[in-house]
Amino acid sequence: MTIFSQIVAGEIPAYKVAETNDFLAFLDINPLAEGHVLVIPKKEIDYLFDLDDLTYNAMQIFTKIVATGIKAAIPCKKVGMAVVGLEVPHAHIHLIPLNNVDDLNF
Ligand code: 5GP
Repeated sequence: MTIFSQIVAGEIPAYKVAETNDFLAFLDINPLAEGHVLVIPKKEIDYLFDLDDLTYNAMQIFTKIVATGIKAAIPCKKVGMAVVGLEVPHAHIHLIPLNNVDDLNF
């Protein structure tokens, strides 16, 4: 079970910002900027691009809704979106409030 599945199961605490039956958004424990959010499918799949098309598309729509909420809540120019997946083998998208190009040096 991944650490993110443990968050979904409520076994590890996380600050949840949005949730549906299939997806969860929560604050990153080691944020690159205030309001850094991770969006995950509740179903445990290793990597974002392993998702079936239906789930992938639904997750992108959920991610857009979450990003719009972040933009409203956190003063920033843009909400950056990144796919990394080097640390946690559970599909996720990073949403990171950004203000200038220096913020991209992560
Ligand atoms: P990646 O797999 O994309 O390289 O990075 C995984 C991200 O998950 C990192 O930004 C890391 O800070 C975050 N992360 C790892 N473990 C936890 C955790 O237990 N709780 C939360 N909220 N975030 C975590």
